[in-house]
Amino acid sequence: MDNSLCWIAGVMGRQKPLNQYILMSEYLWVWIDAGISTTPDQWIFPELEERRMVPPTKNLLVITHADVDHFGGASALKRAIPSLVTMAHEADRALISDIHVAMDRRYDIFGAEGMTLPQSRVDELCQRAGDPVHVDIGITSEVSLQLGDGEAWKVLHLPGHSEGHLALWNSETRAAVIGDAAMGWGVVDGEGALQPPHYMDVEKYLSTIDRLRKYDPRTIYCSHRAKIDGFEVANFLKESSNAVEYLGLAIDAALGVSDIDDPQCLKEVCEYVSSNTERWPGALPSAFASSVAAHLRLVLARVGVAT
Ligand SMILES: [Zn+2]
Repeated sequence: MDNSLCWIAGVMGRQKPLNQYILMSEYLWVWIDAGISTTPDQWIFPELEERRMVPPTKNLLVITHADVDHFGGASALKRAIPSLVTMAHEADRALISDIHVAMDRRYDIFGAEGMTLPQSRVDELCQRAGDPVHVDIGITSEVSLQLGDGEAWKVLHLPGHSEGHLALWNSETRAAVIGDAAMGWGVVDGEGALQPPHYMDVEKYLSTIDRLRKYDPRTIYCSHRAKIDGFEVANFLKESSNAVEYLGLAIDAALGVSDIDDPQCLKEVCEYVSSNTERWPGALPSAFASSVAAHLRLVLARVGVAT
């Protein structure tokens, strides 16, 4: 265990793990993600109180990416710690600052393909996003954070799940706190059902998995699963790339019966994948939309059609 790393294991819905991490030193805490709007009050503050831990004068929140289960609690954290400075990658910054931008660029982007987000889901996302939070620092290159006692963590840019996905890396202890940068076969939802991994860009997501492999972490801390240690690290990274390959094969099969030029293609492929893959029983077609769209863009690029 990294000495400075505090792990707060929360839950979202009935069963979805939602881990928060804080890198702690005497003068600076680096908070990694903030959960949904209710996470700080429900999980973070009670746990810190129970452990009798009080934030120091300097606090930095690194938001790994523009999903509500990672930035939604930022406004509640900021209310409790007014000096909190927030950091995200520039590519995700606008989406984190305004849920309507996230809706337009990340969540509700397949309306033209017949896959509009239901209003109930829009309402749920807005509620989980909390109040808008200003992102103080938008980074475009990787930075180092000095924690005291010579302990250094690097903020890595690991795109794929989102364009500006960040992770924290300690080269001394070989610990990586990766958010959703690699997702194995996916994550369980609030009801305990495995949902497929989400990625917006196939090649970037695979490069991120490769980069993590090269770092050869001893321990990986994810947002939605238990700590991954030792040989399980290599297994998890292999599962992450296997899931992409598996989805790619399912999509190739779907394209045997759907025309990629058809505006309804995305919807048809998602329906095919949802009912023909055994890895994610019960996952709705919409759960595959972003990853399927990423694969379809790749297919179109390979046949030389600009999108
Ligand atoms: Zn997540």
